[in-house]
Amino acid sequence: MRFVRAAIHGRTISEGREMRVLLEKMVLDRPDILEATPVARLREFDLAHQAAVLGADRIGLDFVARQMRLDEQAEFHGGPALRPACRGRQWSCYGCAMELQEIGRDVYACLQADRGLGTSNSGLVNRAGGLVVDTFWDLPHTRQMIELYGRVWQAPARRVVNTHRNGDHCWGNQLFRGAEIIGHRTCAAEFGKESPGFMQALRDGGDSADPMLRTFARLLVDWDFRGIELVPPTTLVDDRLELDLDGVRVELIHVGPAHTAGDVIVHLPAERIVFTGDVLFRLCTPIGWEGTFERWIAALERIVALDPALVVPGHGPLCGVEGPREMQAYLRYVRAEARRFFDQGLTTLDASRRLDLGPYAGWTEPERVLFQVERAYREFRGEPFDAPVDVTALFRGMLELRGR
Ligand SMILES: [Zn+2]
Repeated sequence: MRFVRAAIHGRTISEGREMRVLLEKMVLDRPDILEATPVARLREFDLAHQAAVLGADRIGLDFVARQMRLDEQAEFHGGPALRPACRGRQWSCYGCAMELQEIGRDVYACLQADRGLGTSNSGLVNRAGGLVVDTFWDLPHTRQMIELYGRVWQAPARRVVNTHRNGDHCWGNQLFRGAEIIGHRTCAAEFGKESPGFMQALRDGGDSADPMLRTFARLLVDWDFRGIELVPPTTLVDDRLELDLDGVRVELIHVGPAHTAGDVIVHLPAERIVFTGDVLFRLCTPIGWEGTFERWIAALERIVALDPALVVPGHGPLCGVEGPREMQAYLRYVRAEARRFFDQGLTTLDASRRLDLGPYAGWTEPERVLFQVERAYREFRGEPFDAPVDVTALFRGMLELRGR
């Protein structure tokens, strides 16, 4: 079991060849363990979620084959060759599904294994008292992040940048006591749009009579939203803000409304690194809030135009410019397909059901496509980019598409 755990952890944190070697070794060495280990016994590992997403009742060779295909896809698009900085040091923490990765000189990424909702990434520029890019969705996960960053910093970071207002990027802010919190003006203004109390009520809804709420409670079981106080940014970005961290130039660039109105990306020009927040989801299906297809595609183009050697997405593994390129293609494809179904008078749910995801079907949580179809329909009807979204109905629809 220890070996399985190590190997699986390797999958979530590694890139390219290293992952393949781990998986091949796992298959060759212990196929009996892989084939014979039911998901229930893997509850303690983050794989159970992955298996649930795949609809598998056990972790078997199919799972491994799928991961290898994803890996090949990344490699085909030039992934590893574009990621020289990934070969830095790595740290993991005992009992948690996150990894600290050195991606440049004094630059780190804290990556959470993609287990669906809320498993976001963070970054650290370890200069001038430290700057953290995004905190996590709850206090326990943010404490684990701080513990990992503690391997490389002298003291907790004095600055935090929130790339946008979603709780999975800023609900751990309060643990950085006294830090300067930086974000876009709109991010700060809309900081209270989501409520930890409401999420905790959903999280505790396992006994609800409503099957949708029961499923949702199950999806949130790893999270604990108690004790969260909202600490919004007080240093506000409009179009752009530049910082000099002891010689490391950091550019905060507003690219919204794309995923949300206040999207900010963090660019380190000399290191050729971009932290994208949720402007980029990598190998997982994007969800969008306030914004338009055009602006989101343009925001991804701005990332490509910065010519980064390494991109840290808001969710999913590290990548090069193939990440934003593929997501642009996804958005264009979904918008075109949605137009066809809109013209035929289909509901968004039926359109999402009929939409053939083709090469994107392997991205995790493909049912999230409903969010994009809804956005497309809003645009086709000429509604504003920040028209209210019926989140409950969307999640209900997603779970229906998922077939639970
Ligand atoms: Zn997110």
